[in-house]
Amino acid sequence: MDGDDRVARESVVAAARALDAAGLNRGTSGNVSLRVPGGLLVTPSGVPTERLSPEGIVRMGLDGSYPAGQKPSSEWRFHRDILAARPEFGAVVHAHPVHCTAFAMCGREIPAVHYMIAAFGGPSVRCAPYAPYGTEALSRLALAALADRSACLLANHGMIAAGASLEKALWLAVELETLCRQYAVALQVGTPRVLPDAEIRATVERFRGYGLNASGT
Ligand code: 13P
Ligand code: ZN
Repeated sequence: MDGDDRVARESVVAAARALDAAGLNRGTSGNVSLRVPGGLLVTPSGVPTERLSPEGIVRMGLDGSYPAGQKPSSEWRFHRDILAARPEFGAVVHAHPVHCTAFAMCGREIPAVHYMIAAFGGPSVRCAPYAPYGTEALSRLALAALADRSACLLANHGMIAAGASLEKALWLAVELETLCRQYAVALQVGTPRVLPDAEIRATVERFRGYGLNASGT
């Protein structure tokens, strides 16, 4: 393990811990990947976050290969497929946060009920239809739901967020859970108003110079 590899592995462990610390994941739920030259680093399957170590992070090729004796996340297919299909992304996080998952359990997409939806690239965050965890079918459905977007829900399962960096992917994951929580409360308060598509398109443009987007991370 050279120095760069060590730093990259440590950043994957730190991102998995950050998802837990933010209340977005717990136990062995969820997984994290980071693009590296020639492939990706991904969290191992079924390992509780507190037991993750830089050595335990699995280096995979884009062809799906990985070292004998290691077991990458069961969701390595969608991590690999997203990084392969979307060169603008350098990191992918998957989690089962309560409010995202509640909408995903109902198979409901998130409409433009807050301007922050623009952070995900358009006027909705789609919900991919259900497929069993760890399958190629789930990867295909997730990739379709992510078209022109940086996040999606997974029916009866959870959510995915992808960004240029781990920091950006984590930020989006926290924002999506916040948006779902706000939407859930708004549905109890009354009838949330959906912003027009043109307003969201304009906000997507405005966001290009905002926060992590402005720094290119
Ligand atoms: P892994 O422990 O295999 O990463 O699986 C967790 C999960 O969330 C499956 O969807
Ligand atoms: Zn999952």
